[in-house]
Amino acid sequence: MSLRDLYQEIIMDHGKQPRHTGMLPAATHSQLGHNPLCGDKLMLYVKEDNGVIMDARFEGNGCAISMASTSLMIDAIKGKTLAQVAELFGHFHKLVTSGQCEFDLGKLAAFGGVATFPIRVKCATLAWRTLNAALENHPHPISTE
Ligand code: ZN
Repeated sequence: MSLRDLYQEIIMDHGKQPRHTGMLPAATHSQLGHNPLCGDKLMLYVKEDNGVIMDARFEGNGCAISMASTSLMIDAIKGKTLAQVAELFGHFHKLVTSGQCEFDLGKLAAFGGVATFPIRVKCATLAWRTLNAALENHPHPISTE
């Protein structure tokens, strides 16, 4: 199996059956994110304690890339500090916009192919933008447009 096939499989798997779905009653932050260009919508719940992401969940629907990205983002941020999360998003953003990143992103590396489809970058980054807004206690739903 080529790396490209493996990456595609990770996205299809998490896109069809996203992990960490549902409400999080203990959430300290929540945020609605919307990508009107594609129709991706998600409600993200985050439990933060002393600058560490303790848990996160989401409810929503959208394309496979947006759902897989949210599922894998939550995998990646659990137990991380806010500074580590910001750093991770910096690397992820670089990957999906340039297709290259020297940083080891683990399964998030599966989104490298998105760089070839600029319209999909918004699908891949919606979860992260929603997360940032949630952590900043943004008062309104955020939109990629
Ligand atoms: Zn999408």
